[in-house]
Amino acid sequence: MSKLVAKFGGLSLSSAQALSQIAQIILTAHTEWEQVVVVVSAIEGVTDQLIETIHDAEISDKRAYRRKVAHIRTRHLAIMEELPLLKTEYSTLQSELDRLFNELIALLEGFGKLDTALQPAKREAIRALGERLSARLVAALLRHHQIRSVAMDANHFIRTNNQFMNATINLNATQQLVEENLSPLLERNITPVITGFMGADEHGNITTLGRIGTDYTATAIAYAVQADQVTLWLDTPGILSAPQSVPHAQPIQELSYGEASDLALLGNHPLHPKTILPARLANIPLHIQNIHLPHLIGTIVQPSNAEPTPARMRAVVEMSAIEILIPNTQHLVEVIPQIGSLFFATFQVLPSVLMSLQGSFRSKIYVGVPATLGLSATEQLTDVLEKRMTDAKELTRVSVLTLIGANVQQCVPCLKKALHALEGLPLRFINTNSSHDSLSVVVAPQDRHEALTRLHALLNAEITTDFNQ
Ligand code: ASP
Ligand code: MG
Repeated sequence: MSKLVAKFGGLSLSSAQALSQIAQIILTAHTEWEQVVVVVSAIEGVTDQLIETIHDAEISDKRAYRRKVAHIRTRHLAIMEELPLLKTEYSTLQSELDRLFNELIALLEGFGKLDTALQPAKREAIRALGERLSARLVAALLRHHQIRSVAMDANHFIRTNNQFMNATINLNATQQLVEENLSPLLERNITPVITGFMGADEHGNITTLGRIGTDYTATAIAYAVQADQVTLWLDTPGILSAPQSVPHAQPIQELSYGEASDLALLGNHPLHPKTILPARLANIPLHIQNIHLPHLIGTIVQPSNAEPTPARMRAVVEMSAIEILIPNTQHLVEVIPQIGSLFFATFQVLPSVLMSLQGSFRSKIYVGVPATLGLSATEQLTDVLEKRMTDAKELTRVSVLTLIGANVQQCVPCLKKALHALEGLPLRFINTNSSHDSLSVVVAPQDRHEALTRLHALLNAEITTDFNQ
């Protein structure tokens, strides 16, 4: 049985027109694949609003969260009313959505009264609610188009650890649960519309996978059902060779799993870093396509066929980071207790930051902030660190720029060319990452655009060159 897993992101769910476009894509997929599984994120902006309602509930601002819930409800109902559904389909859908809104209000009302130990799990249930709403809209629309479809909440079969907001999927346990809960539907030719971003730990508590986690849900489901392909539908033309503001940034046609993992981890790109592993383990190709140009393949992530792969440069990506200077220290060992407590404080607030240490006479720590932590994470991290640091001047906002390409790290000519391209720009740090497929430099914010532009011009010029020569 040929199987496709198709994932749709928040922007492609944000209007009735966009939903109809999705329905067309799924109808076409049904002509090409025997089984299709759909994974959806929340409508754009809804997860952010849900997170805001949690803050309101924490300070018992009932009016504020009720207003936000009313706003989310109006948005969903407005989209629903524009969908071409029959009267009976509207009323069934509306009561399904209202049941979820009642659940949300109940979660928020109960917040102040909860034992603090229960609060993290409730927060996760609130964060994950947007996907449960959007999945119902999509499933109803597919049914209207004569596709047998049902919305499915992923907490019933995506099994994760209990790291709230950054949970990791247990692929083996998930595969077993998928076989029990999802495969029977596929065998009956039903197209499930699965909520992305959410799972549940072994006690049944809802967990979320980190921002933009729906990609990760899609590849985990693909692993579990042994799909032949995963398509991530975005509203951009694929994975770009540099951030959009860089001149001549263009879609990359092909990436290896290793390159895509580093790109997702170290780039401020809408691809969750854990997305690649399940696809890689099961050797499933990943297509990244533009919802507005469905006939074009944007980027394909697949195993590299050349063995050994010659070094190459594929993209340059950027991540926001903070440099912490530990001044006037003779030996790294003397600052270890201080570093330990900083690491601890940071991980408690932001569970998936990346850390790198440059040590000798004056030690510097770099804390990289992945896009999965959300837009305000760098400010949040600065606040936490400022409270911890005796001298706040020791914190500097920096950018980590990373060249992505198979074996780029071990390629001396690549390194030479990159350093030559950056001549005259002050580099604060050069870092080799644990894979061989990336090489990072740290620059001050005022130099980031120039450095990105120069590195991108280098890779554009060299894209066909074998760097080993
Ligand atoms: N809705 C979640 C978020 O906004 C997950 C996703 O979009 O993939 O981060
Ligand atoms: Mg989203």
